[in-house]
Amino acid sequence: MNTQVSQVQDGKAVRGRPPFKPVNNLGERSISYSDIRTFQMCQLAYRLIKEGAAKAALRDEQVVGNLTHDGSAVTDEGNRERLLQEGLAELPAEKRAEVESKVRKLIQVADELEDEQAFDIRREKLVRWLDEVTGWELVAKPDEVSMTVGDRGSEIIQVVDKKTGGRLRDSHVDQIFFFGLVVYLTRREEFFGSIKLIVRLLGDSENPDREFWFSRAKVDFNLRNVRDVIRQIELALEKNRFKPTLGDHCERCSVKEHCRAYARWKENGGEGDNVASFPPASRQRLKVPQLGGARRRTA
Ligand code: SF4
Repeated sequence: MNTQVSQVQDGKAVRGRPPFKPVNNLGERSISYSDIRTFQMCQLAYRLIKEGAAKAALRDEQVVGNLTHDGSAVTDEGNRERLLQEGLAELPAEKRAEVESKVRKLIQVADELEDEQAFDIRREKLVRWLDEVTGWELVAKPDEVSMTVGDRGSEIIQVVDKKTGGRLRDSHVDQIFFFGLVVYLTRREEFFGSIKLIVRLLGDSENPDREFWFSRAKVDFNLRNVRDVIRQIELALEKNRFKPTLGDHCERCSVKEHCRAYARWKENGGEGDNVASFPPASRQRLKVPQLGGARRRTA
C-alpha cells in the first residue's frame, strides 16, 4: 500500500511525508518481564524477536496456555466461546479435540478460583510506567489486578498471574514481582496499602494460589536491576552487537530457525564456545571483532 500523500500546491504535485512507520521494534524504549528474561537468556534471541523474526509454531502447551488466558480474561460466555473457536481453528484438525478439552477444564478451574470478594477487577490490561531515569517504559500485563479488603478492613491490591501448570517456577516468582513493581510504581502517589501477589497454578488442585507480599523496601533494589538490564540493551544497540548464548534452551527457542549461531552449533554437534557466530560472516570481513573464530563447515 502506498502511504504517501500527494497534494496539489501552486499547480504542482507535492508529495507529503509518509507517516512514520517503524520497520521493527528493535530500539523501542519499553521493557517487559519477558524482554528481560529473553535478553538475559540470549541477547541474540532478544534482537531477533524485536526485529520481528517469524516465530516457530507454538508448542501444544503454549497454545493451551494462550487459549486459557484469553478465555478466562473475558466473562461473557459468547465472547469466550468465540475466542476459543477462533484459536482452535488455527490448529491442525487432529489436535483440536484434545486442546479444547484441556482449555475448557482449565477455564473452569480459573472461574472456580475467582475471588468473590474482589472488586474493581481489571483483566489482562497493560500497565505502563515511564522511568524518567532511563526514559524507558516498564510494561506489565498481569492476568488480573483487583482490589480486596483485608482482615483489618484496609484495602489491598491483588495482582494475579495464572499458569496452566502445577509447579511453581522461579521465573513465575520473578515475573509476579515484576508485575507488582510496575503496578506499585503506577499507583504509589495514591495507594499506600499492601499489594498481594498471587501466582495461580491452575494445574495444582490442592494448593493453586501461591501468595507473596510486595515489599516497598525492595523497590530501589528491583528498579536498579531493571535499569541495569536496560543499560545492557542500550549498550548492545549502540554497538549493534547481541551475543548468542547457545545451550539446551536453544531447542525451545522460538526464533532458532533464524539463528546462524544455532545452525553452526548444530553442524558442530553442539560443541564449542557459546558466543562464536555473531556478527554474521558477512560482517566479519569488516573486521568486526570475532568471538571464537570462524568454524569450518562440515558436509
Ligand atoms: S537458538 Fe539459541 S543462540 Fe540462537 S537465538 Fe535462540 S537461544 Fe539464542
